Amino acid sequence: MANNYHHTLTWSTTRITVLEYCNKKYYLNYYPHALRNINEELRLTTLLLKNLKSMDMRVGEKTHHLLSDYLNALKHWSLDEEAIQAIKDRVIWEMRDEFEISKTRDYTSYDRDHKFWLSEHYYWENVDDKLEDVIQKVVNNFDTFLNSDWNETVQHYFKTAKTVYVEKPRKKDFENMKVNLSSLPELKNLNVMAAPDFGVIFSDNNYLIIDRKTGQEKIDTDWTSEQLKIYALKTLLKSRSTLDDIHIEWYEVYLPSLNKIGGKIEKIDIDHIIQKLKDDMEYQKQFIVDGDIVKNEPLEHTHFPRTTSAKKCATCTFRKVCEDLKNFE
Ligand code: SF4
Repeated sequence: MANNYHHTLTWSTTRITVLEYCNKKYYLNYYPHALRNINEELRLTTLLLKNLKSMDMRVGEKTHHLLSDYLNALKHWSLDEEAIQAIKDRVIWEMRDEFEISKTRDYTSYDRDHKFWLSEHYYWENVDDKLEDVIQKVVNNFDTFLNSDWNETVQHYFKTAKTVYVEKPRKKDFENMKVNLSSLPELKNLNVMAAPDFGVIFSDNNYLIIDRKTGQEKIDTDWTSEQLKIYALKTLLKSRSTLDDIHIEWYEVYLPSLNKIGGKIEKIDIDHIIQKLKDDMEYQKQFIVDGDIVKNEPLEHTHFPRTTSAKKCATCTFRKVCEDLKNFE
């Protein structure tokens, strides 16, 4: 059957995490189009499940939206309390509205731009009593940022830096997110996307990268996240420079604790992420036909074993289709 899908192999930290978590989940999440040759209904359900999120995941996503809405508005206007409250209210309203739509379980109106259904509702869990708690967590994350020094600092950057970049997660600019790896021959066909939450260019050779986190905090403060190393690599490749010529500082800022880890990007960080991309590409190649990353056709679904951890399956969004797929093995 004709396959209109084509995309060279992609690398992301999430993708490798999913592959390590469960090979079958990786297949279902990244190659749902391959199910077309097995069962169309299964493919459509998999596509739907791929876009469901749990309420915990919504906390991170909505915090991200709220901060981005605020910072993008702040970039152009000075905001009084009323304006800030209006930005907050919009996200609170959105969360309530989307929750009610999710509860209807009417997936006939599903479309790629409205991925707000909750996995809890799909699996018939009653989570009515959790909504206010989730909204409160988002508002609390935002208020913590507003009352912190970071709020003053970013306003200072808006006034003084050469360029300030604020991500727009509601409308991703995929073209701008691409990391141009053409100068690294072994990686030139790998598709890597990266955009930090917040970036500052003070001058042509002085950069600051900030990512906000709402998940579990890292304990090891010497650790540089792979995501931030990718941002730094992207900056270097784009500027056609080396770390001898430019200074890149990075921070991960956790909400609501405001703990931060970070520092100066060193050559060892860049060497490490380039090697990691190569290793992960080889790992992923084991699951595609002829190891051809340009064609990027997955092996048969039977080549993707299931995890043996019942704990992982208990919360897996794909548990329905994973079970249904057994009828075709
Ligand atoms: S239900 Fe379990 S085995 Fe199936 S995809 Fe999810 S984690 Fe993997």
